[in-house]
Amino acid sequence: MSGPPIRDGAVLIGEDGRIEAVGPTGSLAAPPDAQRSEWLDCAIIPGLVNAHTHLELTGFAGKAEEADFAAWIRRIRTLKEARTPPGFLAAARQGLADCHAAGVTTIADTGDSGAVIEALAEAGGSGIAYHEVFGPHPDQLEESLDGLRARVRELRRFTSARVQLGVSPHAPYTVSGVLYRAVAAFAAEQALPMAVHLAESAAESALLEDGAGPFAEAWTRRGIPLPAPLGESPIGWLDRHGVLGARTLAIHVVRASRRDVVRLRERGSAVAHCPLSNHRHGHGAAPLAELLDAGVRVGVGTDSVASVGRLDLLAEARAARRLAGLDAARALALATTDAATALGLGDTVGALRPGRWGDAAVVSLPGTADHEGILEAVLASGPADVRETIIGGRAVYRG
Ligand SMILES: [Zn+2]
Repeated sequence: MSGPPIRDGAVLIGEDGRIEAVGPTGSLAAPPDAQRSEWLDCAIIPGLVNAHTHLELTGFAGKAEEADFAAWIRRIRTLKEARTPPGFLAAARQGLADCHAAGVTTIADTGDSGAVIEALAEAGGSGIAYHEVFGPHPDQLEESLDGLRARVRELRRFTSARVQLGVSPHAPYTVSGVLYRAVAAFAAEQALPMAVHLAESAAESALLEDGAGPFAEAWTRRGIPLPAPLGESPIGWLDRHGVLGARTLAIHVVRASRRDVVRLRERGSAVAHCPLSNHRHGHGAAPLAELLDAGVRVGVGTDSVASVGRLDLLAEARAARRLAGLDAARALALATTDAATALGLGDTVGALRPGRWGDAAVVSLPGTADHEGILEAVLASGPADVRETIIGGRAVYRG
């Protein structure tokens, strides 16, 4: 992603797991005892970076078919209530293995079981696990915040040079304004990155703009006061509560006006673009071209199997390409370099370049010719084409 494809190319990864050199095979001075792997009719590409997953929901594909978004959210809650802690850990392990098998080496995951950061740590994986917090009633502030603080203390033991912990005040329809403000302050104090589901559905906009719609009705039934003040867009409302900063990842961002896009740019917040999930839930198309033109950092993400059935990051990149009229290189960047930059990991992953982590995927490319053809073939590939996935020089998947 940092130069044109190299024919008969090679990547030399040092014992520290970082890339030492990239170039034509004959040009690399590998030590005589270096372990070598060789592939024919393949491309070695940077390990893919998935900017939004919920790996604790692995196994729920096809189990939440509700067309109405509020009803779908309730179904997910019911499914999660029936899953035990060992069940979440097994799901997270399987989900991470599925990511590795699909050439994804870094994930940005949100969840509230704590299982994904544990799975990342034990597998020697790479990524950020944003721990979710909920609490739509302002009276829940202390309980929610205390719970989050305790979980952050407990989960820090899984962090490392490659595994980060973050926080995620879930969404404007599950988090009160005071809780947003308090979590943003906590994240700043603890130097934790933050992720929020934002500007995703019409129901979310109706709650914040008009105090109406299915989320507003559910809140009123449960005795939860409506957000105050009403009349702001979701992005404007979160900005008002101090949530949008340079370490904030806004997930979805479908319903964003030009003013909202400018606001994201000014705050330096990044966007996880999930076109297939947005389509599945009938949320519409995100203003991807406007976000990119404005210089907002964007990466593609899959969202969960409960939304999209199967995690296929390059299918998301192809959907992004169609949506914003991108060339193959830019579409691939959304799943590699750009996604890494969106997550604040632009100096360490996303490209095959000396000094970065030795994360790569090997993809079958039978019968391809010129540069453009190679980029198109990589972009057209899918999980079944992945021959091997490598993290820090170590194979984590062999097809
Ligand atoms: Zn999500």
